[in-house]
Amino acid sequence: MGTIVCQTCNCTIDHFEDEKVTRLYSTCKSGECQKADEDLD
Ligand SMILES: [Zn+2]
Repeated sequence: MGTIVCQTCNCTIDHFEDEKVTRLYSTCKSGECQKADEDLD
């Protein structure tokens, strides 16, 4: 199973069939990205 991951918020966007485990980086649609604010110190 392949996974498409958002390179901005690291969430899983979609899955696709693949013989091996693969991770592709993409970005969410504008407005749907749940960008993590991890630097809220
Ligand atoms: Zn995102």
